[in-house]
Amino acid sequence: MWMRIRCSLCGMTFDDADPLIPHKKRRHESWHDPSTAYRRNAIRGSMSWIPLGNDPEK
Ligand SMILES: [Zn+2]
Repeated sequence: MWMRIRCSLCGMTFDDADPLIPHKKRRHESWHDPSTAYRRNAIRGSMSWIPLGNDPEK
């Protein structure tokens, strides 16, 4: 069983069944965090994780 989640800001998708997903989500959240905006081309703002379920067509 697997599930994908999508970042509401940039649309990047992640596999929620990935054992490293908590780490990857934190790192991605900090990517959008205005307080850690050291990358000028990053989209900054409040984000949320959108569950996509297990439909590969989404
Ligand atoms: Zn994102």
